Amino acid sequence: MYLNAHSHRKALKKDEIVCRNAFHFLNADTIRELAYPVSVGIHPWHSSECMENSESKLSELLLLPNVLALGEAGLDRVNGPLMQIQMECWEMQFQLAHRLKMPIIVHCVRAWQDIFPYCKCSEVPILLHDFRGNEQILQQFLPLELVYFSFGKSLFAENKIETVFKKIPANRLLLETDASAIQIEDIFKKAASLRNKGLAELCEQMKKNGHLFFGEKSLAFF
Ligand SMILES: [Zn+2]
Repeated sequence: MYLNAHSHRKALKKDEIVCRNAFHFLNADTIRELAYPVSVGIHPWHSSECMENSESKLSELLLLPNVLALGEAGLDRVNGPLMQIQMECWEMQFQLAHRLKMPIIVHCVRAWQDIFPYCKCSEVPILLHDFRGNEQILQQFLPLELVYFSFGKSLFAENKIETVFKKIPANRLLLETDASAIQIEDIFKKAASLRNKGLAELCEQMKKNGHLFFGEKSLAFF
C-alpha cells in the first residue's frame, strides 16, 4: 500500500491511499459521501475568503468521519494576499485544530520564522508538506517531535532537497504527490533508493507514520 499523504486528486490505483485536499467551501453532504479520506482547510492563497462564519463552517466539516486533517493551511511569502490577512486566517485555523484535536497539513513558503512559533507550541501533529527548507531550517524544526515532513516531486528535481531528505528521521517522514502528475509509486521508489531502503519496508513505515500523524480516524481507511 502506498500512502499518499497529500494530493489534489483521487487515488489512481487500488494499492494507493490518498488523503485528498478538499475545498473549504464544499458542503458537508458532498464530503461525507466521498469514499476516501480528505483534509479540509483554507489555503493561504485564499485567506481573503476567510469570513466570520468560516470557523463554524470548517468545524462542521472537520468533524466528519472521513476528514482526517485540517489543511492545507499556512503562510506563503511568495504568493497570496498580505501577510496580515494570511496570519488571521492561519491563526483561526491553528486554534480550531487545537480545539478539535486535529492534525494540520501546513503549506509554508519562505515563512519559516513566521510558522516556527506555532509549530513550537503546537499540541497537535503538524505536517510541513512539500518541505523545501534547507538544512538549517530542518535542524530548527527537528527537535519539535510533533512536526512531520513530506516530500514529493522535488525528490526528482533538486540536489539540495536530496541532502535534506536523507536527514529526515524515518518516523517523521511522509510522501505525497500534491498537485503533480507523478505516480505515488514512483515517488516511493525514488525515496527508497535515496534512503537505501527496501520498497516494502518504506511502505510499512509510511503507513505507520500515517497513523501517527492522522491519528485514530485514519484506522478506518488504511
Ligand atoms: Zn497541495
